[in-house]
Amino acid sequence: MNVALTLSTANLKKTKAREAVLEYISHAKTPISIQDVENAPMIKSLKIDQATLYRIIHILLDNHIIRQVDLHEGKFRYELAALPHHHHIVCTKCGIVKDISDCLDPKAKQSIEKETGFSITTHALEFFGLCSSCRIFLEK
Ligand SMILES: [Zn+2]
Ligand SMILES: [Zn+2]
Repeated sequence: MNVALTLSTANLKKTKAREAVLEYISHAKTPISIQDVENAPMIKSLKIDQATLYRIIHILLDNHIIRQVDLHEGKFRYELAALPHHHHIVCTKCGIVKDISDCLDPKAKQSIEKETGFSITTHALEFFGLCSSCRIFLEK
């Protein structure tokens, strides 16, 4: 993504800090937490204080450039809002997160709508389990 263009399209002032945060999130392979952003070398080198970092995250959320992901860890994660529809799988032992493209079977959606009388507009579906490394560790 062109970070500078994304900010100017949203009528947001371009600052080094905003560009760096968005750059970092856009290159992350999985949703990242504020702590991840804080600890990224490119962010550290800019010496962005925590209040500014939180403000940037909120501005990016408000402008629908990023979205919030809740993986029930007691903290939120963030990813680009423009990513195609997908889900996540979380290792309950080491906390590693992976994106997965598999989605609900359309038949499941129909049967839920039939059962509840709802018309489903969107859904969030997250999976939890043990990653391959943690599984090997447990089997030893
Ligand atoms: Zn694991
Ligand atoms: Zn889905």
